[in-house]
Amino acid sequence: MDDRPVMLLASDVASEREALVGIFQDSFIMREASSGQEAISVAQEGNIAIILLRYDLEDVPGFAVLEALKADPMSQDVPVVLLNLPNNTEAEAEAVKRGAADVLRPPYASALARVRVRNVRANTENEWRKLEQRAKDQQIVEMNRYIERDPLTGILNRTTFYRRAASLMQTNSTVEYVIIYLNISFFKVINDQYRVEMGDLVLKTSATYFKSVVGGDGYAARIDADRFALCVPKDAIEMDSFIAGIDGILEGLSVPHNIRFYAGIYPVENAFLPVDQMCDRAQMALNRVKSNYLQRYAYYDKSMRDTMYEEQMITRNMEYALSHRQFQVYLQPIYNLHTNHIVSAEALVRWIHPEKGLISPGKFIPIFEQNGFITHLDRFIWEEVCRLLHDFRRQYGTVIPVSVNLSRVDFYQADLMDFLLGLVHRYGLQPRDLKLEVTESAYTENPRQIMEIVRQFRHHGFLVLMDDFGSGYSSLNMLKELPVDILKIDMAFVRNIEKGKRARIILASIVQMAKRLGMDIVVEGVETKEQIDYLDSVGCEDIQGYYFSKPLPQEEYAEKLADDIASQKKEQEETCRPPQ
Ligand code: C2E
Ligand code: CA
Ligand code: CA
Repeated sequence: MDDRPVMLLASDVASEREALVGIFQDSFIMREASSGQEAISVAQEGNIAIILLRYDLEDVPGFAVLEALKADPMSQDVPVVLLNLPNNTEAEAEAVKRGAADVLRPPYASALARVRVRNVRANTENEWRKLEQRAKDQQIVEMNRYIERDPLTGILNRTTFYRRAASLMQTNSTVEYVIIYLNISFFKVINDQYRVEMGDLVLKTSATYFKSVVGGDGYAARIDADRFALCVPKDAIEMDSFIAGIDGILEGLSVPHNIRFYAGIYPVENAFLPVDQMCDRAQMALNRVKSNYLQRYAYYDKSMRDTMYEEQMITRNMEYALSHRQFQVYLQPIYNLHTNHIVSAEALVRWIHPEKGLISPGKFIPIFEQNGFITHLDRFIWEEVCRLLHDFRRQYGTVIPVSVNLSRVDFYQADLMDFLLGLVHRYGLQPRDLKLEVTESAYTENPRQIMEIVRQFRHHGFLVLMDDFGSGYSSLNMLKELPVDILKIDMAFVRNIEKGKRARIILASIVQMAKRLGMDIVVEGVETKEQIDYLDSVGCEDIQGYYFSKPLPQEEYAEKLADDIASQKKEQEETCRPPQ
């Protein structure tokens, strides 16, 4: 194959064409055009390396052919050498302006003509290469930008943050740095309740704020979802005003008050610790304050690491523990003040660990709620309770209902209702034998979804309790919209009874309002006779607390209940028996 480049030679002077063909035919495949029109149409076919163009063609005079060639994408980058251009600077300037690469004038000396054409081609190739390189560089810059940045907020992404923060801290070894880890509480609510755009706006605006606060002394990054991290010199940020600043921004966006940033701070001791581990530590500090209304940030200390090891132990062992029946149901009876008998009980899980002994749910439930394992554990507990109720009924012919705890995570399982209905059916129970406790904070987190499911529970005959009422931000006002059967008043309220009149007034009005709305009340955490007396005086009858009993292992509870039922029978017989 002939791999010589193609030269288009456009001239309507035959002798000129002949002379130039003679000069160039060794190194080019020659294509000739004897008019301007022909030149343009040959050029349109493409694959031309260079064009020699007579300036004063008859049919399309002057610069018009050159103009046409430069306007056509097929030929615009092909170098054009003008032939026979008038020998004056004006004409040459005009030619260059219009994109001509060079000029050749007769008589054509072969050596000079070849050199000029070679130079023109070399220059063009150089230009091409430079252009290509520039485009590539630009692409790399853009790619890097893309790879290094979080697409939504435009600030650094996680991996780039880890890398850059490490090198920043390591090169400035005399500066003390902190890693600040940030997370929004209840962020999901924004996306659920408003629109995703609102969530995006909150993230973007916050990111801009973080970046401006950090300035040139450090880095701000979006780790993922609603989590951010900053790396700054220790004294660069004053935490209180920093938090006030971001609060102001969220307020400006009309974000509800319970949706706020929380921060954990890790003061860097060793700049060579991997930055992701620094972030883990800052996050541990964050977890201490998350959802705490009063404290918005905390500093990492070493005790948190022990907590983390304990958490890891729990996560490693949970599945084995469930399949080897290390989780057991304890039951805490609920007494009626007036009859002094058991009216119900709450099922509370305990982890009986072969080496560590009894682990309380406060330690592992929050971890299971985070990693999702709670749904498995809860379903296991519910089934244990149903089995217990079933056995008890077989033995004593009666059932005293037991309430079980539902975690908000349980509500995300689409088959929740079917599972519960299936359970009560399988164990021959009525839905009302299994009461369902839903904690107050679950309602505030995802009100519409939870309320809808709760409505369905009640529709199917389950009794629903609102657990921990008064521990969060629910107001008296909220009561009337809540589809629940029983309010379980949080123990913090009971603690406060002794403290002052205000707490007593609030408690009394909650009781009144609940009663008027047809709700029952259980008070939990009752420990003293004084508390009992006060609760009695405001009309609270159903009491759960150490005053009557701690949570008991199944067998102990069953015995207690059997005794209670027996004594109840005896009392009934006594009242029925005619006086002798
Ligand atoms: P909770 O549902 O509010 O349960 C009441 C807690 O108060 C229980 O703590 C109980 O032992 C304790 N308590 C009862 N009476 C008194 C008292 O007079 N004084 C004091 N100081 N405490 C009293 P426990 O068993 O440690 O459970 C802690 C929390 O763990 C529970 O709070 C509940 O939120 C969660 N939990 C327990 N079992 C389960 C379960 O099976 N599933 C789920 N999802 N959560 C559970
Ligand atoms: Ca409960
Ligand atoms: Ca409770």
